[in-house]
Amino acid sequence: MTDTANRTALVYAECMDGKLRRVALEALGAARRLAGDGGAVHAVVVGGGPGAALREAAAELAARGAGVVHVVDDPALAGFAPEAYAAAIGAAVAAARPSVIVLGHTAAGRELAPRVAAAAGGGHVADVTAIDLGDDGGAAAVFTRPLYAGKAFEQRRFLPGAPQVVTVRPNNLPVAEPVAAGSEGAIAALPYAAPPLWTVVRGIARKAAGTVDLAEADIIVAGGRGVRSAEGFAPLAALAEVLGGAVGASRGACDAGYCDYALQIGQTGKTVTPKLYVACGISGAIQHLAGMSQSRVIVAINKDPDAPIFGIADYGIVGDLFEVVPLLTAQFKRI
Ligand code: FAD
Repeated sequence: MTDTANRTALVYAECMDGKLRRVALEALGAARRLAGDGGAVHAVVVGGGPGAALREAAAELAARGAGVVHVVDDPALAGFAPEAYAAAIGAAVAAARPSVIVLGHTAAGRELAPRVAAAAGGGHVADVTAIDLGDDGGAAAVFTRPLYAGKAFEQRRFLPGAPQVVTVRPNNLPVAEPVAAGSEGAIAALPYAAPPLWTVVRGIARKAAGTVDLAEADIIVAGGRGVRSAEGFAPLAALAEVLGGAVGASRGACDAGYCDYALQIGQTGKTVTPKLYVACGISGAIQHLAGMSQSRVIVAINKDPDAPIFGIADYGIVGDLFEVVPLLTAQFKRI
């Protein structure tokens, strides 16, 4: 591994249900910047589903600036298993010898990155929301990450010499743009050597969730205890549908049984950074803000003008959500 001006970056391109996640393309965009003009960019896709799906993902990465896409396709990798996936990424690390490795800061990325960093003998910066390349094209890049639920920002940089492992928070960095036709990268199969495993994943039970993935949604309409019942979420779902967004919830709403915990946003739920977050009947407890305060535009609808959520909202509507939300839906339908 090197830390010279000619850098090699490797992206772990996470797929879900055989499709590339958008954060994989954001990670690729970051990797291209970090590698610099003279650098090389590799990507690795891992799975064991129908080969065509991984190939499709690989082709998209190759069309968006990955010079080499390693495809690790093995039946043992059909389901996500952290040790096995880390070993598959390790094979790509051995092939590419990257100075920087970028993953999405997703549930899987959070499990994999420390393993990848430990195996590579490198350092790890997690949950990056901005990258400043500095003057030397990436080797001494400064990585910004939010702390204390977005109340502070830390800036970190790696010391020279060791491989750098970075996870990027979804929805914060631009996706890699397509390269000119004819400049697509190569796609190469990479054999998988199963490591000795200490744990196995026996199954993943999926919780009910909407059609739009919360973590990557551009628009989220979230409901709190003010929604009052499971049925009370219907107007929020209607607004989310018109906007092409996802429905989220506070823990207050989940605890009250109005919706599934899969929708919970906050300190003990999901962290989201949509372009638009509409908080309906949510008071704005610090634990909720921990998961959504980095949203680009926050709209709060609450009948209590002193609700703390108005303190971080860009736009506030003091009113009854059961009147305001249907009005908004009707207006957006007309656009
Ligand atoms: P409430 O605080 O009860 O607020 C309801 C709001 O609805 C009020 O502001 C009210 O004015 C408004 N309202 C009522 N009716 C209407 C109406 N008709 N129209 C408009 N507005 C109306 N919380 C999370 O959300 N996520 C977490 O991850 C999380 N993790 C936690 C971890 C720990 C360790 C702890 C201790 C707590 C955690 N909490 C979390 C809970 C958090 O402290 C709050 O209790 C919770 O966020 C409150 O949910 P809420 O805003 O929906 O409910």
